[in-house]
Amino acid sequence: MTDARAIPYGRQWIDEDDIAAVVRCLRDPNLTQGPRIAEFEAGLAAATGARFATVVSSGTAALHLAALAATVGPGDVVITSPISFAATANAMAYCGARVAFCDVDPRTGLMDIGSLAELAAKLARSGHPPKAIVPVDFAGQAVDRARVREIAERFGARVIEDCAHSLGARYTVDGVEHAAASCSHAEFAILSFHPVKHITTGEGGAVLTNDPARAQTARDLRSHGIIRDPTRLERPQSDPMRGGWYQEQQALGYNYRLTDMQCALGSSQLRKLPRFLERRRALSARYDLALSEGGMRERIEPLSCEHPDRHARHLYVVQVRRQRDEPLASVAQRRRSLYEALAARGIQTQVHYVPIPEHPFWRGASRAPSGPWPGAEAFYAASLSLPLFPAMSDDDADRVMAALRTSMEDSCGA
Ligand SMILES: *Cc1c(COP(=O)(O)O)cnc(C)c1O
Repeated sequence: MTDARAIPYGRQWIDEDDIAAVVRCLRDPNLTQGPRIAEFEAGLAAATGARFATVVSSGTAALHLAALAATVGPGDVVITSPISFAATANAMAYCGARVAFCDVDPRTGLMDIGSLAELAAKLARSGHPPKAIVPVDFAGQAVDRARVREIAERFGARVIEDCAHSLGARYTVDGVEHAAASCSHAEFAILSFHPVKHITTGEGGAVLTNDPARAQTARDLRSHGIIRDPTRLERPQSDPMRGGWYQEQQALGYNYRLTDMQCALGSSQLRKLPRFLERRRALSARYDLALSEGGMRERIEPLSCEHPDRHARHLYVVQVRRQRDEPLASVAQRRRSLYEALAARGIQTQVHYVPIPEHPFWRGASRAPSGPWPGAEAFYAASLSLPLFPAMSDDDADRVMAALRTSMEDSCGA
């Protein structure tokens, strides 16, 4: 957009101290694989409560390594949500797995737990119980961890939490509060540091786990599967053919490393996470209030959220209200008109997400039998993500609400 006053749906917040942190790194001997990697990893472990954090080049790479460390492989079936970014499913297909999609609750966009249990049972009956379940904390609200865990245990599946939206979110199980990505109810969790997410490293991501062996696997695969630690070599350096230079490739790994420069930025951003979250929650509360007013609440409603203080507020999604017996196509038409009317007023919204199994690629071989997804269809037809990022001012938020009000009058009818 060229309009200087246009408001995007999401954007990073970079301060002078973030820039200074990266510049300091540029003057150091290490541009990659220096001390800032371990520092950022320690910060992430502290922020989430998980024991081990392994930073990688993207959230997608994190999903890939978590799936490999969970021993997802050819012939396996993995269950995830149709309402997520394509990478959630793609990373499972990288491992040769087929993906089965359970349905979502149309009021939250989160995995429908009943549908998850049913799909897992159906797959088990067909001889392919799920190898892994990948719940997605859509928009920043934690999925019901205890129930996902219970289903995973029933079928012997691993849990890989996609926490790309939920850094800073919390949830309770039996009255005890846990942080999203703490891996309290999962073998793995992943984070993304793409610029629209809570904190950024440009591109970047992390695999979190409480298991030292799994953390080591993720770490090894991050850098080609090559081992340098003399104590872990299969063949000793004492042999005359080997020496201090000797390193050993023990598995097929990747170059998924994050650079020292990016970790410098990551640690600097992570220190601001509490402030970023507070701002995201304050803006969301401002939206909630405006949407509860007459004229708005009859036409549009925010996603259902039981605990605003535990929500990480990555996205603020509203839904066009469906009239009694209204066909989905008509809801979708009103949503599109709203998207266009807002764009004409300089408010860039987005739709999260086109259901993954609707993409042409996912109609093909990588999919395991699953569906239909009436919840995901209804969710997709009605949803629109409004601008939400910590650098937005209260005035920006009020401008979004004013534009929404007039756009609805233009496009939604009474
Ligand atoms: C952003 C995102 C990813 C992928 O992260 P990248 O860092 O962009 O690779 C995965 N899952 C979800 C839900 C995301 O929003």
